[in-house]
Amino acid sequence: MKKMINLEQALDQIFAASKPLGTEVLPIQKAYERILAKPVIAKLNQPPFDVSAMDGYGVRSSDIKSGISLKEIGMSQAGSGFDGEIKSGECIRIFTGAPVPKNVDSVVMQEDVEANDSEITFSNIVKEGKHVRKKGQDFFNGQVLLEVGKQLNPASISLCAASNNAKVEVFKQPKIAILATGDELIEPGNTPSLEQIISSNPYGISALVAPFCTSVTNHPIAPDDESKLKKRLKAILDSDADIIITSGGASVGKYDFVQPTLKSLGVKMDFWKIAIRPGKPLMFGTYGKKLVFGLPGNPVSSIVTAIIAVLPALRAMQHIKEPLGERMRLPLSAPLKANSERRHFIRAIVKTDENGSTNVNPIDETDSANLTSFSSANALIIHKENAPKLEIGELVNILKL
Ligand code: AMP
Ligand code: MG
Repeated sequence: MKKMINLEQALDQIFAASKPLGTEVLPIQKAYERILAKPVIAKLNQPPFDVSAMDGYGVRSSDIKSGISLKEIGMSQAGSGFDGEIKSGECIRIFTGAPVPKNVDSVVMQEDVEANDSEITFSNIVKEGKHVRKKGQDFFNGQVLLEVGKQLNPASISLCAASNNAKVEVFKQPKIAILATGDELIEPGNTPSLEQIISSNPYGISALVAPFCTSVTNHPIAPDDESKLKKRLKAILDSDADIIITSGGASVGKYDFVQPTLKSLGVKMDFWKIAIRPGKPLMFGTYGKKLVFGLPGNPVSSIVTAIIAVLPALRAMQHIKEPLGERMRLPLSAPLKANSERRHFIRAIVKTDENGSTNVNPIDETDSANLTSFSSANALIIHKENAPKLEIGELVNILKL
């Protein structure tokens, strides 16, 4: 029997095998949350000309004194500017987004004037440049706007569009295949016999990995039969999947065929007992460049191991900066029992109270088959190996779900 390893040792091996898949060019509509493989460079100036930031009157600031009246001689609208020039004593009507004509250096808000036909009276002086966005003020033609490694958020997608970059080059995402194993399993939507249970793991795992992959294929359930399993796994290993995830049969029980079968098919396989709870048994291997994960069958264990072992690989393959996921430190709102020698990922609820302070409440239920409690959690507390009992208010590390 292999000795238990810690999660970091397992992740070292996983990261060493998680190689990027190259790059692809995507329309920006499909690039949300993807990681740039090439910088985004502005193809124009923004704004392309001086524009008004307000609805009001375009003036020469040197003209404006308290109580002065100017003559309105024209109008500049967004998409249709004012062609002429204004002379001292004159102003124009101007609207948000409209080009600011030559000689005009400021815009006075319409709320701050009194308009009598074309006679406009100003009450206060105005600073040069007020409410005028200068040409290139946001970015200029040729400027590097987004660097390699940037994860595109909604504002970055708008920035790509505004700078006339309709497409971007990003790191490729893998194709994933999932196979549930177990004689007792049937698909949801069917009527189980007394000894059958519904296969749930592939559904949660698909949802978890979906943002990090181009496709997820859920293969039909495989039975606990060595030769049938071998056939099924061979077909999946030889498909175009970059990552193969199995669920169940991961232990060393009489009917746990996944490990020996994968080995017999040429997968370079490691079986680990990782010092974590839930989810002690985990398999990891490689088949050429493909990654193979054998997750435990218990529903909570299977998703937790996917979160802490599969997602880091998916993030690393795409150069996501924090492959381990978003961590926080928060105070406990209930005490936590002392821990054993296995790191415990405890289901928990992060909540912000009416005073705006955020804390984390551990959920009592820790059974690795209990999905109801897991589904109500929005975080996992990472309770360290051999940690002592922790009191209300003590800080704990959190992995956001
Ligand atoms: P195993 O790892 O195959 O020994 O399975 C451990 C436990 O998880 C058993 O109670 C199985 O019935 C259950 N299980 C295995 N696969 C699934 C699945 N796809 N969905 C839900 N439960 C499962
Ligand atoms: Mg099984």
